[in-house]
This record gives sequence, C-alpha cells and structure tokens, in this order.
Amino acid sequence: MTSDRTARKFPLALGRLGGASVTTAKMTAARGAAGPALIRPQRHVAAAHADAGRRATAAGLGLDSADVRARMVGRLRAEGVVHPQVLAAFAAVPRHLFVDPGLATQAYEDTSLPIGHGQTISKPSVVARMLELLFGTERAGAAGDLGAVLEIGTGCGYQAALLAQLGKRVVSVERLKPLHDKARELLAPLRNSRLRLVFDDGMRGHPPGAPYDSIIAAAGGDEIPQAWLDQLAVGGRLVSPVQQRGAGQVLVVVDRHADRYTRSVYEAVKFVPLKSGLSG
Ligand code: SAH
Repeated sequence: MTSDRTARKFPLALGRLGGASVTTAKMTAARGAAGPALIRPQRHVAAAHADAGRRATAAGLGLDSADVRARMVGRLRAEGVVHPQVLAAFAAVPRHLFVDPGLATQAYEDTSLPIGHGQTISKPSVVARMLELLFGTERAGAAGDLGAVLEIGTGCGYQAALLAQLGKRVVSVERLKPLHDKARELLAPLRNSRLRLVFDDGMRGHPPGAPYDSIIAAAGGDEIPQAWLDQLAVGGRLVSPVQQRGAGQVLVVVDRHADRYTRSVYEAVKFVPLKSGLSG
C-alpha cells in the first residue's frame, strides 16, 4: 500500500498537515496558536502576542518539519513496527499539535503525555502496536485498510487522526466533554462523513455505525463491554486494554468469527481506566 493511495482516500490528505498547507494553518489556528496572519483584530493584544510567541517557539524548534516525524518513525521501525501504512500514518500526523504547547518539545519522544482532565495521549509505540494488531485480520490484510473503525476514548484526537488515515470510516467516542470539544477543534479539517466524533459513554459503543471491522479502546476496564462484542463485524477484530484481576492491565485481542469469538492476551500495558457515564 502506498501513501499515494492513502492520500487519494481522503480529500484533506493528512500527509500535507506537516507542511505549510492550509490544513496545518487551520489546525494550528484551532488550538489557538495563531501566526501573525491569523491574529483576529478583536482579540486582546497580549493573548494574540502570547499565541504568536508559542507558534514561533514551535516553528523555531522545527516541530512542523516532516524530518522530526520521520525520526520518530525510524525509532518505531527500530522497535519492530513494520506495517507500511501504520508507519506512513505516524509520518503524516503532527503529534505536537495535539499536546499542550509546553509539552510540544516532548511530542516526538516515545512517551505518554498529559492532555488534561487526568487523561493522557498514549505512547506512540503502544499505539503503533495496537494498530498493527488491527491490521492482522484476513479482511484488513486483503483490503489494505481497517474498514469501519470504532475508537473508544478520543482524548485529544491524535489516534483518531491516525485512524482517519487507515480506516474507510471512523467513529470516535469520548465521555469527557472538554476533551471531545478540543478534539472537535483540532480535527475540524478532517471531520467529514468519514470521521465522526461522538460525545457519549463509549461503553455502549456506537450502534448507529455498527458493525465495525476494527474496534480500538484507549481506556481499559475489568471486562470488554458486551456492546463492543455485539458491534464487531464477523471477520473483525477488537483491541483493548483489560484489567486482569491481580495481574495488572494487558492488551487483549478479540476476533469475531461466523460462529464464535476468540480471545488472545498480549503484553502488559498501562492505560487510563474505562469509566462509565458522561462528564461535562
Ligand atoms: N486516543 C486518545 C487517548 C486518550 S486517553 C488520544 O490519542 O489522545 C483515553 C480516553 O478514554 C480519555 O480521554 C478518557 O476520557 C476516555 N474514556 C474513558 N472511558 C470512556 C468511555 N466509557 N467512553 C468514552 N471515552 C472514555
């Protein structure tokens, strides 16, 4: 699968986000780090000045450069990530735009970072691992994409942006309103019929979009909710952290076959807890 094909799949190619494209400008403006040309006259001068300063800092550090992302991709490859489309997605999405400006310099390290409200953006190597696992089905292997995708836990929207590169359509659900709203702003250039952000309790999945070929959870509970299993397509795969009694959290893969489900347990992981209910 070439990135050309990926680019064709999306009207606003994420591959252009790192350069001086309109899309980058929109995403940058959305997070409030407007460059001089984007400062609105009605804004307080001091706020606008601070925003411009942050933008200059990011630019000065070269975080908008594709080379920075390429170095992160090189490290992922060295750690054993091989799937070309997964690597291409990481090369395309500017992770620093999804974290607080104060943490931007750490955005391309293999580390989870706080995104506010007690939540974290997941570690790139763990995200890559889960995406590669999702590509492990016969359907995804043959189609070269993740098909219809459900993400539980939009958080800041970084993984949703990666998924938008890899799926045919993506629904991402978040239960914390401030994070949902922030992701809506950050992903505004990408939101269309192929990427939907939903404010809801993801424990229920999202029945209107079911069945899903791929389900990925960024938060782990004691069990995999029945709704997710019900909404998984036959031939589809679910990847989720699950808390094992007394043994910490592990990555669990569930495959749905015509007549049964199979479950495989992978390595230990550390995700935030899956919580029920909404929080405004
Ligand atoms: N994929 C995210 C990771 C965010 S951390 C990113 O790239 O930033 C996990 C997220 O799961 C948190 O934002 C948390 O609020 C959310 N979450 C936890 N339980 C949830 C639930 N039941 N429904 C929807 N989101 C949930």
